[in-house]
Amino acid sequence: MTITNEEVEELRQLCPNLYSPDDAAFPDKAAPWSVWADRNPQYAVEPHDIATMQAVVKYLYSHKSIDFCVRNTGTGGSSATDVVLSMHGFKELHFDPKDESVIAGGGLAWGELDQLMDQKANGYGCVGARCTWVGVTGGPLVGGLSWLSHEYGMISDPQNWLDAEIVTGDGRVRWAAKEDPDLMWSLRGGGGNFGVVTRLKLKAYQIPAKIFCGVILVPYSSLQETSRAIAAFNKRPSDPKMAMHIMNQGTGAGQEDQGSKPGIVLMPIDFRGEAHARSEEGFGWAWKVTGAREFVAMETTLTGVNALNDTFKSYQGTNEFWLAAPLVSDIDDDMLVRMWKWYEDSYNLHPGFGKGSVVLLEFMQEAAFNSTSGPEATAFPHGRGQRHVLQTQLGCPPKSKTKAGGDSRELAMSRMSQAGKEMAGDAYLGEWHAGFLHEWSDLKEVYGPNYEKLKALKRRYDPENRFNKGVDLTEGRVTEGMTV
Ligand SMILES: Cc1cc2nc3c(=O)[nH]c(=O)nc-3n(C[C@H](O)[C@H](O)[C@H](O)COP(=O)(O)OP(=O)(O)OC[C@H]3O[C@@H](n4cnc5c(N)ncnc54)[C@H](O)[C@@H]3O)c2cc1C
Repeated sequence: MTITNEEVEELRQLCPNLYSPDDAAFPDKAAPWSVWADRNPQYAVEPHDIATMQAVVKYLYSHKSIDFCVRNTGTGGSSATDVVLSMHGFKELHFDPKDESVIAGGGLAWGELDQLMDQKANGYGCVGARCTWVGVTGGPLVGGLSWLSHEYGMISDPQNWLDAEIVTGDGRVRWAAKEDPDLMWSLRGGGGNFGVVTRLKLKAYQIPAKIFCGVILVPYSSLQETSRAIAAFNKRPSDPKMAMHIMNQGTGAGQEDQGSKPGIVLMPIDFRGEAHARSEEGFGWAWKVTGAREFVAMETTLTGVNALNDTFKSYQGTNEFWLAAPLVSDIDDDMLVRMWKWYEDSYNLHPGFGKGSVVLLEFMQEAAFNSTSGPEATAFPHGRGQRHVLQTQLGCPPKSKTKAGGDSRELAMSRMSQAGKEMAGDAYLGEWHAGFLHEWSDLKEVYGPNYEKLKALKRRYDPENRFNKGVDLTEGRVTEGMTV
């Protein structure tokens, strides 16, 4: 598709904030996370008030030859051949102490929201992404997981995401939960593509000022021992104040490439503080693994905890990058061993994967996927009986080739589509995190009992299927432009 000169001028009349690739600000408005996802858009348009947003959305929706996407941070791989609708004009935050809620602009990133909370609602925090660069809207539109999910559930759950101001393709604006509950339901993890969310009403929770977070480095030689220790930790009663990420050492952790058999990073997070984290009731076992070396140990605020992964941010716009995340119900003694084997096999097929690849076990507590009345409460059916997330990320320098001279993406897709079975065996039941889907993802499986209702609502709110990037419910598939 190609936008005509006449259409460009009409768009400029509606919204003078129109950027082209010659503008220095353009990458900030339009660069996707992975260079692979870049569709080389011609313009980025950025409304700064609701009336302009309504006019722009209506225009883009009705001019069917214009290919457009909605973008905040680009983490989700959002791109289009013609126009990027940038959300960066919507960055305000208002705190209401009476009902402990905030109204947040739909163009904030979670890191920006954390900082505004520190200024305007000190002591409070929202259930938001664990990475500062994820968009406040893009996250919950695909479900959304937080360090606070272990206690309060997914970002998109009704107790956390209270309401959404949304502009639909006809230019109409409404607060969905209040005025149109079906629309709100579809936004809760339904993949987006129902309209443009301009503001979110979020629950604010009082958060301890001193949250312990640590980084413990463990040598590869202790892989089996660590794997058993994590399986044992998984058997303990679920504690909503404790969370852990377990991943490979390497560039994702801000280190050099560690080869095909990398060491292990244990990242314990304890909302009860340092003394509890180091105790036997906490993560005491982690420091006792053979060869374990404490690399980071600090007490910090929620803002500080969420910034822990910032080493990753440097990948935006510099790497090719793909993610997929099977959900798993249990952790056995060999789970980590199989995860590292998957990494080793992937690395051996493409040594370029050493630049940016991560295999990550997001150790979740019961509440994360079980804080609603059931799978039908929100569009994303919440990992029915699943508990943990296996995140696979394969990244390599742009245009690099596999060891056999093949296509990097093709290999990444093949490795990722097998990841659940290879790593989790019977604990993998075909369910996936809705944030990282690909053309081989089966939307019927992802949305399970909610799939037909979601499709019907898509027909009601976007009859022309003009919001079609990523989860394309009209076609029943994931378009190439999704995630990364
Ligand atoms: C390295 C990495 C780490 C991540 N970590 C987390 C995490 O800790 N927790 C978590 O929950 N998720 C995480 N994610 C997943 C993330 O939530 C999704 O990728 C999400 O789609 C990103 O949204 P965005 O706004 O940042 O990206 P964008 O690419 O700008 O947007 C993604 C899609 O969301 C839609 N969208 C964005 N803004 C709007 C809007 N205002 N109105 C309507 N539609 C909109 C659009 O359809 C767009 O195509 C991570 C992703 C990556 C790559």
